[in-house]
Amino acid sequence: MFKYWVNFLLFILISYNPFNLSAKTALEPVSASITITHSASDEWLVDYRFSKPIEAMIVGPKVVDYRQTSWQILTPNFALIQLDDGEKLISKTGTFSNLRIKVSHYSDFAMDDYAPSAKFSDGGVALYTEFLFGDVVAAGLLHKLNPSLEFKTKLNEHIITHAKINDGRGVYTYFGPQKMKRSGDVDLIVDPNMPKWLEDSFNKVVPLVSKIYSQRLNRTLTSPPQVMLSAGDIDSIDSFSVKGGAKNNQLVMIYKGKGLLEPSAEKQHMLERLIAHEMAHLWQQDVHNGGMSAEEPWIHEGGAEALAVAALVAANLWEKDYFEKYSRYYTKRCNDILGEQTLKAKIEQGNWDAVYACGFSYFAQSDAELFELWSYLISSADHSGKHFSSEMLEQFLAKEK
Ligand SMILES: [Zn+2]
Repeated sequence: MFKYWVNFLLFILISYNPFNLSAKTALEPVSASITITHSASDEWLVDYRFSKPIEAMIVGPKVVDYRQTSWQILTPNFALIQLDDGEKLISKTGTFSNLRIKVSHYSDFAMDDYAPSAKFSDGGVALYTEFLFGDVVAAGLLHKLNPSLEFKTKLNEHIITHAKINDGRGVYTYFGPQKMKRSGDVDLIVDPNMPKWLEDSFNKVVPLVSKIYSQRLNRTLTSPPQVMLSAGDIDSIDSFSVKGGAKNNQLVMIYKGKGLLEPSAEKQHMLERLIAHEMAHLWQQDVHNGGMSAEEPWIHEGGAEALAVAALVAANLWEKDYFEKYSRYYTKRCNDILGEQTLKAKIEQGNWDAVYACGFSYFAQSDAELFELWSYLISSADHSGKHFSSEMLEQFLAKEK
């Protein structure tokens, strides 16, 4: 019943700094005002003004070939160069304080990272801003960048961004004809070209699951969650793929593929679970220091998967026995994947199937009530600033005894 498993690209959010910079010293941040202007349907002009002359900006890890194919550096004598740990913009003629690039819509994505932009069928498009800037080098030393973003458009349209744009870097900004529609306590945009069966499903699932998380985790998000579901590239492939990313109280999902046009109960279950999983990440991350651990990803991934199924059942969207069905399925799957190896070894090999399956299996088999356990983990991470860990799980269990 879960044969679509491999078709889904579950997004794994890495909330720590994924980019290991070999800098001499980190000094006080350099400020930059960055103006992003939607200049044509699939195009943006990005203007940078730095508070002091810099030699280079390290824009981050490679995002497939996004920057090579969809960036055009309009300021003369600049180059985008590849480093072992990422990509860097440099001036060939010395320092610079201003820079202009033209960015085009790019729908491909790396497995474990966000899509650069999400296209809607009505001309709307959401741009992921974090790929556009990074740390800078000035006088030979590395500085954090303190960006201040501003959005403009030359088209007759709305611009929707998130209040967290200037304190959390990873935010999508939407340019297009839609306005956010309040659904329960969620702000929602569903692509007008979303197949009807999916639109109906999402309109039900998103507000109900959000309500369950708020109630059962005993926690409302620090700002209303924004959910954007795009289907502008739905005809681009024959089968289907779904890419989702949750960060900073914002969730953007990209639905691609003609396979989504035909409804099926099996696909519907898969897609409902997927969106509820990504929504669980919103609650897991909305804490001091982001909650999610790079060392023990099975906790937040397995936790999100278990919370998703439990919330769908609690919202009466799914039959009661679904949690047990998934529990049996994932436990077997976890055992099959691990064989003689440990989960830690599988994680080190980058086996994400093991992360989800064994993570879910852990929470399903735990004696603790799932929502109470996660309510504890989330508030504990928020108070301590620590990431979710086995130690935190043990603290909860010890407290329960
Ligand atoms: Zn996930």
